[in-house]
Amino acid sequence: MQNLHIPRNRITFVLIISKTKQPMTTETPQLNDHNKQEYPPMHTCEHILNQTMVRMFGCERSRNAHIERKKSKCDYTLPCAPTEEQIAEIERRVNEVIKQQMPVSVSFVSRDNVPSGVDLGKLPADASDILRIVRVGDYDICACIGAHVSNTSEIGTFKIISHSWENNILRLRFKLL
Ligand SMILES: [Zn+2]
Repeated sequence: MQNLHIPRNRITFVLIISKTKQPMTTETPQLNDHNKQEYPPMHTCEHILNQTMVRMFGCERSRNAHIERKKSKCDYTLPCAPTEEQIAEIERRVNEVIKQQMPVSVSFVSRDNVPSGVDLGKLPADASDILRIVRVGDYDICACIGAHVSNTSEIGTFKIISHSWENNILRLRFKLL
């Protein structure tokens, strides 16, 4: 077992699991410690927001996110500022997913069998033979060690508080109502 140090602002995306070659069924894989107790509705909402941004803008998932109970923020690299209509559309689409009452499921896969659609770009190069995969219905799939709701109906309503764009970085600040 090995503990790697990961920058705090990347922790929601990264997982380190036992590097042993034990069969997966013998024991629950051991995860590294999470940096804080996350608020599951916010964290699942972050995943939905990330997927929505990928689909709308073709950008990457947020690599700089601060997810807190009261309000959160995510940064995305975008070549130009979104319009107000696009910001409203982000909010609308995220809420549309939430309202579909999608199940959120966790599974473990070996690194050789990672389902398509999982971005491993944020994993440390030498990390993990086994990955924890979090699915939000058929909408999003992501390698993640964090705590999540079991159904999107537990999230509430996603509200973008404010947004700014500077130097190709869009920052979205949001809360749950
Ligand atoms: Zn996550």
